[in-house]
Amino acid sequence: MSTILAPTVTHGRSQETLDMHCYVAGTKIVSEKKLEVRSPYDRRVVGTVHLANASHTEAAILAALKGGKKLTRYDRYSILEKARHLLVERKEEIAKIISAESGLAIREAIYETGRAHDVLLFAGIESLKDDGQIFSCDISPSGKARKIFTLREPLSLAVCITPFNHPLNQVLHKIAPAIAVGTPVILKPSEKTPLTAIKIVELLYEAGLPHYMLSVLLGPTNEIAEPLVKDPRVDIVSFTGSVPVGKHIASAAGYKKVILELGGNDPVIIMEDADLDLAVYLAAEGSFRNSGQRCTAVKRILVHEKIKDVFIEKFVAKAKEYTCGDPADPETRVGTVIDEASAIYLESVVNKAVAQGAKVILGGKRTGALLEPTVIVDVPRDADMVVHESFGPLAPIISFRDIDDAIALSNSTAYGLSSGIVTNNMEYALRFVKELKVGTVNINEVPGYRIESSPFGGIKDSGLGIKEGVIEAMKCFTFVKTFSMPW
Ligand code: NAP
Repeated sequence: MSTILAPTVTHGRSQETLDMHCYVAGTKIVSEKKLEVRSPYDRRVVGTVHLANASHTEAAILAALKGGKKLTRYDRYSILEKARHLLVERKEEIAKIISAESGLAIREAIYETGRAHDVLLFAGIESLKDDGQIFSCDISPSGKARKIFTLREPLSLAVCITPFNHPLNQVLHKIAPAIAVGTPVILKPSEKTPLTAIKIVELLYEAGLPHYMLSVLLGPTNEIAEPLVKDPRVDIVSFTGSVPVGKHIASAAGYKKVILELGGNDPVIIMEDADLDLAVYLAAEGSFRNSGQRCTAVKRILVHEKIKDVFIEKFVAKAKEYTCGDPADPETRVGTVIDEASAIYLESVVNKAVAQGAKVILGGKRTGALLEPTVIVDVPRDADMVVHESFGPLAPIISFRDIDDAIALSNSTAYGLSSGIVTNNMEYALRFVKELKVGTVNINEVPGYRIESSPFGGIKDSGLGIKEGVIEAMKCFTFVKTFSMPW
């Protein structure tokens, strides 16, 4: 059995309760109304946040639109670089906050600070590059001696709404590209993980970001998130989160740009020729890292029927290595999911699949918000746990007959975020690249493999096919102006 470590020592966990504030363009909001943030692991209060209200929403919009010192490329680069250095200095402190408020294992939280470092690094580098193009106009019989030039201008105001599952990286994936192009942001982070978000906002102010460039607001949805999404003065809403909220935002936003990075139920597809040790490693990392709470976590393990039995045997042995327990313990590999309600939901989808004939062969035990890495076999193809997104450390295994069956099975759900394929057969690899209806196909890697600047995002219910990643997000936060001149 994979084990749940008993709550024992404090593992250097700070017992301090953070008292934090929302900010309107650098001004702290002091409020009677406070949000209490509790550890999903032991329910202790890890912090409080002074909440904003509708008047702060209006003030944040006005401050951003009023603007301030226009930042040169070098200014933007310097701020992002300074922020990167501050992050490196404080990565342990920030990792502890991530782990305390999200229940993610401390090793995952430290890993996340490394990803956030790369976001700042790449955004800084990209901010220095020229983003224009030149089109000569004398290139057809009807052409003439002119040139058309393009330049990118910042938008007036971006609203960025982020989820809980990567409390730091999701926030920086929106703010850093916006800073790189000079677009002011109002951030509305998840209520479940606000402390990390506010910490990074403070760090950016400290790095020299002019205050008009960034506000962070938390409070009632009808006073903060909803009015921001609907406001015609906002040029873009960049949202990462669940499908239902994303679709709601798409319909509420009206005439403005909307970027939607939504849920997934990514497969790892293991062909009969696969390197089995690699397949087992990728399936386990993909299923259990970050407590299975990545949009690109492996949500379905699809295995060729010829190698199913040997794969399962090796996979169970590997899954036992993913000890689950106190997130603050450096030995813990799988912390909690975000809250007990989510763990109970995950338990219920496992139970439903079992009632349909599936078998739990490892894990499945729940203690509060801790859910053991759970391996389930003989999962019916129409089970809720594989048709919908199961945001937790579940590893459902389904076998397939041949590549046609694997492609059909993979494409059979409403999602289309990413995929991982384990094969050494080039013909198989090319067919998957061409025929999977997803935003990304990674051969011999987990679906979540990326670098922070490469294009990222899904299709179908996972998104509108508009990519993020530092470079694409910078494009989203600008509009292209053209001008032409005789030449
Ligand atoms: P969520 O429930 O959709 O919440 C995301 C954000 O939306 C939160 O800040 C939430 O605020 C806010 N929100 C809720 N109702 C809103 C409304 N009516 N108008 C505007 N904003 C609203 O998602 P989650 O549970 O935090 O995150 C998990 C989901 O995110 C999963 O489905 C995961 O796959 C997806 N995700 C996708 C990607 C990607 O790149 N494709 C990356 C990471 C995660 P409150 O906290 O105040 O409710």
